[in-house]
Amino acid sequence: EHAPMRFFHEDVVGRSVCGSFSRIERAVDDRVIVVGAGTMGTGIALLAARGGYAVEVIEPDASARERGLARLRKDAERADYGREALERITWSERIAAKSDATIAIEAVPERFELKREVFIALAAALPPNALLATNTSSLSVQQIADATVHPERVLGMHFFNPPAAMKLVEIVAAADTTDETLNRAREFVAKIERVGVLAADTPGFIVNRIARPFYLQSMRALGRGVASVEELDALARASGFRMGPFELMDLIGMDVNLATSESVYERLDAPRLAPLDLQRRMVEEGRLGRKCGAGFYDYSSGMPGRLDLTPEDPGEEINEDEYVALVGFGGVADEMAELLTQRYAHVERIENDEFLDTISADTTIVIDVGEGSIDRGEVLAQLDSVLAPETVIFADAYATDIDAAAAATRHPERLVGYGIVGALQSQSAVEIVDTADVSDDSLALAQEIFAAIGKGSVLVENVPGLFLGRLVASIVNEAVMAVHEDVATPDDIDLAMRLGVNYPIGPIAWGREIGGARVARILHRLAESEGSEFAPNRSLWVLDIDQEPEAPVDAGS
Ligand code: NAD
Repeated sequence: EHAPMRFFHEDVVGRSVCGSFSRIERAVDDRVIVVGAGTMGTGIALLAARGGYAVEVIEPDASARERGLARLRKDAERADYGREALERITWSERIAAKSDATIAIEAVPERFELKREVFIALAAALPPNALLATNTSSLSVQQIADATVHPERVLGMHFFNPPAAMKLVEIVAAADTTDETLNRAREFVAKIERVGVLAADTPGFIVNRIARPFYLQSMRALGRGVASVEELDALARASGFRMGPFELMDLIGMDVNLATSESVYERLDAPRLAPLDLQRRMVEEGRLGRKCGAGFYDYSSGMPGRLDLTPEDPGEEINEDEYVALVGFGGVADEMAELLTQRYAHVERIENDEFLDTISADTTIVIDVGEGSIDRGEVLAQLDSVLAPETVIFADAYATDIDAAAAATRHPERLVGYGIVGALQSQSAVEIVDTADVSDDSLALAQEIFAAIGKGSVLVENVPGLFLGRLVASIVNEAVMAVHEDVATPDDIDLAMRLGVNYPIGPIAWGREIGGARVARILHRLAESEGSEFAPNRSLWVLDIDQEPEAPVDAGS
């Protein structure tokens, strides 16, 4: 009875080798059951039908069936696969006593008891080697599997909303799930033209867990008065996120976001991911976001405008007045040097702190980039003592405590902190620290010089990690912890975050770009000020080792 199934999978492997197109047709004989015709179920059903499968959708609720069918028609019309795929979809009210389907995907509401019942029925109806997948976002896949006979063929297939547009599927391996099950799931996911990543059966899997700090740390920064909602969203967009955290929470819905936060937090038992009072208050007050007309933004008179940080075009003119000295080494210092030399006639580079006393007496601006992970207080004090009092000094505010450094200088009014997270070329705006001591002229000069090299800026309060530092460092930290806990491989984590939530770069790659020691330094300062739960993970150092181990010189030994 199940021989054709095996046959089919061998065919798929054969196809990938020889590329014979005619063999794809065999897939049409394979039947897929989708349970639940909500947002996710209908989307998944259409993907499977497009992939050539015969699909049976199970939906007990007549009005949900109608809505589902209407949604399917609309989706099918929009795309060119249209009618043909729709014809492969049939509807039933309940799971039949016997079915020859080889794959079932459950997408009923997120209640354990309900899912358990569905899996008992699926396990009884389908052949013992059929794949049984749950689309759960927050329940334990193993607990669901425990309800079935043959739990080895139960897994999670976590699609993203809307399935037609989102390429990612987290293939979730529970403790009992066999490799064969996972391989077959991978084949299915590839066949319906999605990208599968492998995730362990842990709270939030990959995406919903690693994305937590994006929301939580943004709200923490807002709570500490770092900047306004509009400014923080603009800074996040300027560092490559497609949407800022607040506009995104408004879109997702504060209730949905809070439920995910609570579920991941409770199951992981991780204080760093604790939901905030602000979230709960907004949910209690009904400020759920766009769907209610108000959240972090007011939507009562249409979509609110977005703050644009693009600086004015500085023109072609080369600045002859300022004498800029750039202190420090590494990627950001190199990028900065290149941009500065395009705009300023006088740029001096000092890569070694030993040579600080050689700094030109004409210098009007010193930009200290440092090395990224060490407090530069002493160097800044040294600069302060050798420079003329009017010379303005910029310092990296992620690694260095600017207030403490200012307190140790003769002229604190000329010390400006700034924040650049990762590569400068992928950041279109920077944060500039507005401290109690710094003068308006110094701040204006900082904004001017960043504008000259094409970067917008936002004035922020001086709290450790400012906004982007704490945000990105916390996400990188969570990703490194997930690798450490075997949730997924670094490559799958990066792929998942890019495809599942549109991050501009995977968090592991981002961490490598920023440097593990620098991420650790930012989080160390954050932890000192806001609690030890935000401390850097001990594995962050792995970000600083070369990805590709060098081949042994003597291969023959
Ligand atoms: P939904 O409420 O839109 O749809 C669920 C459907 O299941 C409803 O039409 C309901 O009538 C039907 N149903 C209820 N009991 C049933 C039963 N016994 N048999 C068959 N159908 C039954 O829910 P959704 O948003 O599509 O989510 C479904 C699942 O997908 C949940 O586990 C959810 O956590 C997960 N998920 C949702 C999203 C999302 O953004 N909506 C994203 C990823 C995963």
